[in-house]
Amino acid sequence: MRIVLLGAPGSGKGTQSQLLVKAHGIPQISTGDLLREAVAKGTELGLRAKAAMDSGKLVDDATVLGMIRERLGRPDAAKGFILDGFPRNIAQAEALAALLKELGTPLDAVVLMNLDLGVLFKRLTGRRICQVCGRVFNVYTSPPGAAAHSKECGDAHRLVQRPDDKEEVIGKRLEVYEAQTKPLIKYYEGAGLLRIVDADADVDTVFKSIEHAVRDRTAGGVSPKTLNP
Ligand code: AMP
Repeated sequence: MRIVLLGAPGSGKGTQSQLLVKAHGIPQISTGDLLREAVAKGTELGLRAKAAMDSGKLVDDATVLGMIRERLGRPDAAKGFILDGFPRNIAQAEALAALLKELGTPLDAVVLMNLDLGVLFKRLTGRRICQVCGRVFNVYTSPPGAAAHSKECGDAHRLVQRPDDKEEVIGKRLEVYEAQTKPLIKYYEGAGLLRIVDADADVDTVFKSIEHAVRDRTAGGVSPKTLNP
């Protein structure tokens, strides 16, 4: 299975990717995670990317494409992959198509996680990540107290907020999504690859909708006319 999860920041791409990884045994390729890793390690690429990331802007295409080319070339990606947060604009989508053509591994589907803007905002401002076990919580919808204990932390999670989840940066990220990433909906609709799922549901329901949308070529979930935001 070779798919792209498309959707605004906060639409649940990361959470659903992890479930798809478990179900299908293929890797999640998240450009956001790869970039954060590079920033944390202080590599040259990380230093280059940090300013754009901190301000909610896109990292330049050449940097991201170099990273994707390297990642898709690794052996574990040969049996399939879930692209999470890539492509983010038309130039990246075209470069991806060219790269996959070269590799002889075209995409099976692009799944749009459709969600209302108000819900996105709450998800992003409420998101907290445990520094120790890596689990993702939300102070509004899934606080750590309500979740099962984790092996590493018990109940003593050390929660941090991603710097780009702060309110002042979220506005910029949603603006960037609107201007640069949203045109990909039409692009992939034109290519006959788009599947739309309602992402405003609990994690398991959304997962089932994605599985259904990927399996069934005619599944649309909701009509493009009712798209949010
Ligand atoms: P994410 O975790 O996907 O929300 O990404 C966090 C940040 O990493 C974004 O706000 C961008 O600054 C950067 N980033 C992630 N993926 C891309 C991409 N495909 N192209 C450009 N920048 C990206």
